[in-house]
Amino acid sequence: MTIRHTKSTGPNSDINLLDNHDRRITYLRLSITDRCNLRCRYCRPEEGVPFIPHEEILRFEELERLVSIFSALGINKVRLTGGEPFSRRGFLPFLTRLRKVEGIQYLHITTNGVKTKRYLDELATIGLNGINLSLDTLDHKRFWKITRRDYLKAVLQTMHGVLARNIPLKINSVVLKDTSDDEIIQLAGLARDFPITLRFIERMPFSGTMRAEKLENGNLSKRLKRIFPAIEECTAALPTTARIFSLPEYKGTIGIIQGYSRLFCSTCNKVRITPTGMLKTCLYDNGVLDLKKMLRTGSDDKEIESAILSCLQKRCINGHEAELLAKRSAEPSMASIGG
Ligand code: SAM
Repeated sequence: MTIRHTKSTGPNSDINLLDNHDRRITYLRLSITDRCNLRCRYCRPEEGVPFIPHEEILRFEELERLVSIFSALGINKVRLTGGEPFSRRGFLPFLTRLRKVEGIQYLHITTNGVKTKRYLDELATIGLNGINLSLDTLDHKRFWKITRRDYLKAVLQTMHGVLARNIPLKINSVVLKDTSDDEIIQLAGLARDFPITLRFIERMPFSGTMRAEKLENGNLSKRLKRIFPAIEECTAALPTTARIFSLPEYKGTIGIIQGYSRLFCSTCNKVRITPTGMLKTCLYDNGVLDLKKMLRTGSDDKEIESAILSCLQKRCINGHEAELLAKRSAEPSMASIGG
């Protein structure tokens, strides 16, 4: 199996890693832990999910090796997520080492912001390309209701700290069945006041429960147009999971991520690795390659590369197909996948 080369559209790479549907893969999301200090009700059940034993979780040196392999294949962007990445000891030194991996031009993290504030100076020094902060409400009581924890103040301090250090910031807000228009207006107000992108996310079936009810996400773009009649959709230059809108007088933008409707699969440029080292070529699949097994049974880089390339030649056309093939009886927790 070889990497197919086409005329490069990327900023610095002349390698085009293409899947079987000619989608260029440039982006790797690494979930480094399933541990989290929040208990968001759409992500895990109240009683929690059994923690993955430490020895089952990829070690930092294994993760670094995988990043180098993916970089050689044409990946130029890595996002670290979890669980909560700051729950894992050694995360900062790991980030610092990743920054030096040749070919990785864009290094990002997704965090809930609870513990993040104390690390912001180091993150700025590392030269992180962006932070996605998860924040579903600005109301204390509702924050408690959604996350089952009382950390809104810490998250807001992180938000202001990120802004003060000019690290590019996006805020992700999951829209729940009981998210009111007022709440959407309040959250969007952050994009009015600060140069951030506030993205409203459809709730997806990753709650870690045996959900029986069907998810109702409604039509988010119609809802935003009704609430903000002046919004204008911006056209994207690069493949993107989010649709972005501008509003007059806003310093930032607002967006929607339709991960439940799965409307952006045709331009999906990302793959994921779970904390236990399963490669996922779609958020909705069950994992298509056991990378941990390969790493721990002596496979060399070429063998791992070739196994990855082979999976990319069998990639599902979209998340609907992947979900059908996955035949799940219960929803996995997003914390064990890495959102
Ligand atoms: N702990 C970090 C955080 O909170 O940002 C990173 C991991 S978290 C699983 C990543 C993102 O997934 C968060 O923005 C979270 O809101 C989102 N998420 C989790 N479960 C989800 C679900 N069922 N539907 C949509 N988004 C979900």
